[in-house]
Amino acid sequence: MAQSSRTGIMLIGAPGSGKGTQAKKLKESLGYAHVSTGDLLRAAVKQGTELGKQAKSFMDAGGLVPDELVIGLLEEALTKPETQQGFILDGFPRTAVQAEALDAKVSLDKVIYMKVPFELIEERITGRRMSKSGHVYHVKYNPPETEGVCDVTGEELYQRSDDTPEKVQERLDKFVAETQPVVPRYQAKGIVVEVDGVGTPDEVFVRINAVL
Ligand code: AMP
Repeated sequence: MAQSSRTGIMLIGAPGSGKGTQAKKLKESLGYAHVSTGDLLRAAVKQGTELGKQAKSFMDAGGLVPDELVIGLLEEALTKPETQQGFILDGFPRTAVQAEALDAKVSLDKVIYMKVPFELIEERITGRRMSKSGHVYHVKYNPPETEGVCDVTGEELYQRSDDTPEKVQERLDKFVAETQPVVPRYQAKGIVVEVDGVGTPDEVFVRINAVL
């Protein structure tokens, strides 16, 4: 993959900081591709691919999938034609090794660092419910019209296996130990903007647009 002039935006932040929600909104407003390694991994698990089989146990435990697996997945995603105008990275990189691999392939224009106090995160994550097609609700903040059913597709909603209270702490620990240390690398390039991730998705989106 060569360096190109396409626009690259990265959303980085703890699990439950709103990266996925904001990435979808940015995709809609900017027309760039949304590249979420979490979504790609969940799709691989669902399809029962070799990668999905290898990734599943790490995901279920609230841990990180090994770098070589995720880097391969990301590199493949960035060759897709829909990413050629621009891409929004959500959930990658999560380690220094991933950041190095990414920087060797593409350049980023902005890193949006979503800040949400950890006290709020557990409630956000454990109340999250999804449809198989990827629509996301929250039992308290964004409930579907009919309980347990997706407004858009009518699919039954489910809770991600790693969104349980037991897994949240593990995921936050991983964020602090592995992902947060990646931020200074991008701060040194002068491309990091911190955004307060507390509030409704629309409120946070206004803040993001103000810094883009
Ligand atoms: P997410 O939807 O971004 O919260 O990701 C869900 C899970 O997928 C994470 O808890 C990890 O187990 C795995 N995962 C997603 N992205 C990565 C990544 N860049 N590196 C390692 N594991 C990842």
